[in-house]
Amino acid sequence: MLTGIGIMFFTFVLMEGVAWLMHKYVLHGFMWFLHKSHHTRHKHAFELNDLFFAYYGVLAMLFFIFGSEPIDYRFWIGAGITLYGLAYFLIHDVFIHRRIRLFGKTSNVYLKALNMAHKVHHKVQEKHGSESFGMLWVKPRYFRSAYEIVNKQEQEKRGSVHY
Ligand SMILES: [Zn+2]
Ligand SMILES: [Zn+2]
Repeated sequence: MLTGIGIMFFTFVLMEGVAWLMHKYVLHGFMWFLHKSHHTRHKHAFELNDLFFAYYGVLAMLFFIFGSEPIDYRFWIGAGITLYGLAYFLIHDVFIHRRIRLFGKTSNVYLKALNMAHKVHHKVQEKHGSESFGMLWVKPRYFRSAYEIVNKQEQEKRGSVHY
């Protein structure tokens, strides 16, 4: 069980690397025809880009199917992929792009940094020239700017108490 959770955690961390590589070299590479839908403004509920969710969903399901009788390491890899998918969905689709209105504005430095980095990624609507392909981990400079903004907001809040 403990080994299983370790494998699951390891898979989760590894998935950030996989997602980064996929995003940078595949989605902004030969699969741009699908990912393009996510870099274009539109009013549809779904995008062709959502097919990647289905892809990871099927992948996780296969790991579950082949690793569950009896439960072996493959089951835990499947669990890691699923957890990562869930985190990705909550951060990317719900929190950043607000496809479901669940969260308000945040003063959390980590979430703010992720949001800033991904907005920078979306500044470029073309296949090439974008940056910040990661999701749960971004360059330290985003954390620094997010920290400065949150700090400033806090100071302004404190300042307005005296009115
Ligand atoms: Zn992209
Ligand atoms: Zn996005």
